[in-house]
Amino acid sequence: MTVPAPTDGTRWRCTLCGNLTRFDVTRSSKVVEYVHLDLGGAPTVEECDVLSESIESVRCRWCDAVDEVELVDRPGAQV
Ligand SMILES: [Zn+2]
Repeated sequence: MTVPAPTDGTRWRCTLCGNLTRFDVTRSSKVVEYVHLDLGGAPTVEECDVLSESIESVRCRWCDAVDEVELVDRPGAQV
């Protein structure tokens, strides 16, 4: 099942319990990182360029339902 992505005017809502605010999001992404190592060899990522990104699943933190989210309008959003 594909999880619908929220937009500027919409947000997730758990269809089972109504949770609007807390989710565990499993996301896969392909990124290019500019890694800068100091003289001791400790790395710091100074830039991160996201090439592609997709949401694999969303779990509700309240009732543990997986991928049971729908999109609802955000408060004040112009439809
Ligand atoms: Zn829920």
